[in-house]
Amino acid sequence: MQIGKVTVGGGAPIVVQSMTNTDTEDPVSTARQIAELARAGSELVRITVNTPAAAAAVPRIVERLQMMGVDVPIIGDFHYNGHQLLEAEPACAELLAKYRINPGNVGFGKKKDAQFGAIIEKAIEYGKPVRIGANWGSLDQSMVAMLMDENHRRAQPWDAAHVAREALIRSALDSAAKAEEIGLPRERIILSAKVSGVQELIAVYRDLAARGDYALHLGLTEAGMGSKGITASAAALAVLLQEGIGDTIRISLTPEPGGARTGEVIVAQELLQTMGLRAFTPLVTACPGCGRTTSEFFQELAKTVQAHVREQMPLWRVKYDGVENLTLAVMGCVVNGPGESKHANLGISLPGNGEAPAAPVFIDGEKAMTLRGDHIASEFIGILDDYVET
Ligand code: SF4
Repeated sequence: MQIGKVTVGGGAPIVVQSMTNTDTEDPVSTARQIAELARAGSELVRITVNTPAAAAAVPRIVERLQMMGVDVPIIGDFHYNGHQLLEAEPACAELLAKYRINPGNVGFGKKKDAQFGAIIEKAIEYGKPVRIGANWGSLDQSMVAMLMDENHRRAQPWDAAHVAREALIRSALDSAAKAEEIGLPRERIILSAKVSGVQELIAVYRDLAARGDYALHLGLTEAGMGSKGITASAAALAVLLQEGIGDTIRISLTPEPGGARTGEVIVAQELLQTMGLRAFTPLVTACPGCGRTTSEFFQELAKTVQAHVREQMPLWRVKYDGVENLTLAVMGCVVNGPGESKHANLGISLPGNGEAPAAPVFIDGEKAMTLRGDHIASEFIGILDDYVET
């Protein structure tokens, strides 16, 4: 399917997406954050569209992005009142590249089908894809009640977790079937069924993938902060991606107060790249250091090289084909330094404790030169820039 200029599913490369945390009613800060996420490498950006003022801000956000030269598809995240907002703001309906709706809160009671149908009709009218995104935290309660009834009649009843998992999956699949009945083509439907536990997420998505051929958006919802969120997301998504499940991913990290939102984009890219599924930037291999490296110089050099690569990548991507596939090694001593450096396109092995103060540099597997003195970091960065250029 096409989400704006980005192809998702059908064997296309797995797409990285993220979401803003600004107030969408504020087009200046929202456009600024979308631009930051896009420049960090987010290929799709989702914004919450929760009020009439937020829906009315969408054209102004898109206009600002155009002025900034940022061309990234924007997805509208709707809960409770999407049918009203899309009806009231045709420009919002037109400019969003995709609508995300949650079958657990698209409407309640008798209104549910009508409100769900109204959003799907808008997607048909404007030619948009729709993500039907079920979530553990907002399960469709009528579906849960029906499954509990069914469960009572079962000879061997499921446990509560199994009922909830089934409700999540069936909510997504039944909603997709309804959307198709209304007339939305299957090729414009993407499903997600997010939970916050690693093993539950793997079980849910395996089941979802086995029971339909819809494109799938993967993410561990409410993954948490820092290393916990990164580890849990990577653990869950890696298993699924390795099995060929998933067409887009989001890493849902809680940022530090005042921290950058772009961290989740970098983690998503690194997950895909370290698994060999995509390439976004040259990969930096660095050893962890040990008692042979009591100075922090080699850690500082690894950090400098990593930061330089990320900073230069937008420019490199424009100028040089294939630069994202390069590998770099920054190593701490002679034990594994030369060997690992030879495996990389460009590697440096710094002197460990007691070794001669010399840092051999390897280019394409061959020792090319030895750096010494106080300017090893800047000289190595210069060699890296020359290598990329040539
Ligand atoms: Fe330690 Fe050297 Fe191995 Fe790095 S390469 S972890 S410094 S032994």
